Amino acid sequence: MHSASCLVNSYDERCTMHDEREDGGEMKAAVYLGKESIEIKEVDKPKVKKGEILVKVHSCAICGTDVRTYFHGHHAIKPPHILGHEVAGEIAEIGEGVEGYKQGERIHMVTEVGCGKCKFCIEGRHNLCPELKAMAYYYPGGFAEYILIPYQGVIQGNLLPIPEGLSFDEATLAEPLSCCINAQEYLNVVSGETVVVAGAGPIGCMHAELARLSGAAKIILADISQERLTMGKKFGANIVVNSTKDAVVDRVKSETEKRGADVVIVACPDPRAQEQALQMIATRGRISFFGGLPAGKTITIESNIVHYKEISIFGAFASFAAQYRRALELLASKKINGDDLITHRFPLEKIKEALEVARSGKGLKVIVKP
Ligand SMILES: [Zn+2]
Ligand SMILES: [Zn+2]
Repeated sequence: MHSASCLVNSYDERCTMHDEREDGGEMKAAVYLGKESIEIKEVDKPKVKKGEILVKVHSCAICGTDVRTYFHGHHAIKPPHILGHEVAGEIAEIGEGVEGYKQGERIHMVTEVGCGKCKFCIEGRHNLCPELKAMAYYYPGGFAEYILIPYQGVIQGNLLPIPEGLSFDEATLAEPLSCCINAQEYLNVVSGETVVVAGAGPIGCMHAELARLSGAAKIILADISQERLTMGKKFGANIVVNSTKDAVVDRVKSETEKRGADVVIVACPDPRAQEQALQMIATRGRISFFGGLPAGKTITIESNIVHYKEISIFGAFASFAAQYRRALELLASKKINGDDLITHRFPLEKIKEALEVARSGKGLKVIVKP
């Protein structure tokens, strides 16, 4: 879930600490209590009701959204709440009436829970459902020993089998990777093209990898952190540009005989980077505004560039099950090597440290192991 959407949170209502699930035993969870406050607590283990599935969490990766929520708060998340939506685990308990799953099955969780009735849900694009209720936003998340998959998530098919040979840690990457796939399906990178990725975080690196798999001839990765660029070199990028030292637009022009890039993906929450995308795009180029901007920020678009050069600008928000499946396949076949993207692992008890590392930009994906 890579954006700030207006999701309703109600951990207060849903939280196992507040409802009548007292007979299911206890579990350890990292409970988010407000800005820079998160505590390991014993909370009631969710009791599985009809149509629901309980998953034992083995790995839950930290997303940029978790970091932002922890350090700055999130308009739709009211503490106390359990964060963490990049979940891999095994089925622990199956509620009455659920068919087709077995205990112990290794699964990756789809975050988006749609209404099941609207135009987008019928198309399978639950991410665009106007009544989207996401795991770890509306429902409690995966920084806990167990996560309960609600009835609507079960009937929607939100538990995907983890392919053989793919570890729990690597499987968590399917969620962010599926979001990148969602963006690149619009962009349709073809062989020989030049692709610029602004932002060399885990998302930027995944975008570079997907562009490489699509046959991009030149992939230019830009970031303000030299550390991240050095790591980013492992992921499909031919050229890395430190945008604090180098003028990115000029560099892209000089790398493309002044044509500009065929595709620009802005994978950082920087309004300037979005504006620069228009300055370095080639005729008939495609731009993805992948990352959301901080609330209230807007940009100025020189629309004549869009008009005269026939530019397309695409959005991308979260992803849907078919894209998660594709992501799992890419990871299982090692076409994208998940292990390279994982730089840190922490037990649940050290979640504060894990969030600090994720914010520092010193690594790429940080995994929490409940
Ligand atoms: Zn995520
Ligand atoms: Zn819907």
